[in-house]
Amino acid sequence: MSSEIAYKRVLLKLSGEALMGDDAFGINRQTISRMTQEVAEIAKMGVELAIVIGGGNIFRGVAPGAQGMDRATADYMGMLATVMNALALQDALKSHDVVARVQSAISIDQVVEPYIRPKALRYLEEHKVVIFAGGTGNPFFTTDTAAALRGAEIGAEIVLKATKVDGIYSADPNKDPKATRYSNITFDEAIAKRLEVMDATAFALCRDQKLPINVFSINKPGALERVIRGEDEGTLVHV
Ligand code: UDP
Repeated sequence: MSSEIAYKRVLLKLSGEALMGDDAFGINRQTISRMTQEVAEIAKMGVELAIVIGGGNIFRGVAPGAQGMDRATADYMGMLATVMNALALQDALKSHDVVARVQSAISIDQVVEPYIRPKALRYLEEHKVVIFAGGTGNPFFTTDTAAALRGAEIGAEIVLKATKVDGIYSADPNKDPKATRYSNITFDEAIAKRLEVMDATAFALCRDQKLPINVFSINKPGALERVIRGEDEGTLVHV
């Protein structure tokens, strides 16, 4: 029999790439549908779920035109890209009968609500999925940092980082066949071994706040649910 739920409130970080499938950029219909199906399942298990969505998939499409651009301007474009993804995600969740609310860190009131912490907390208590768009609202940051920040703000028990690889490896598994996956590792070990878990700002914030991170593969069917059940899936980074 399956184990119980290990986490009551989680922050899920989805990179834009998770929506892209094998396409060069953008949102792949089948991929987003399959992925939201898994997300819907854990929402229906009663887990309070907040999602920080990236924007890399959309930004790839405009990247050639953004070359040589002022960094802050390009970053605002990246933040807008996350708003598009958030709307697509909300819509896809709706088709799986899950109610989601989007809150943006950059003001775009005709389209989505602004980020208001107490309101986000209320939605979570009501078992609505909260999608945080617009990253942190500041250039020079990433959506990984937004995930750590919002995760800490809403009192999430863990940040779940969905990637294309099923955890953190001792070396690049694509290059080194002897590379082994860490089932769990402490923040200090990850630093000592120079393992890249999240970007440095996000990692430092999680470490300071003693907020564990689980890195797992979004492409592996059932992986998200196994993480939620506290099973050995991906890599758990802890204090
Ligand atoms: N971004 C930003 N500030 C933030 C979050 C994101 O400026 O707080 C911009 C930045 O340009 C980034 C882009 O938005 O490259 C998309 O976010 P990210 O690269 O984290 O998305 P992912 O790679 O996870 O899809």
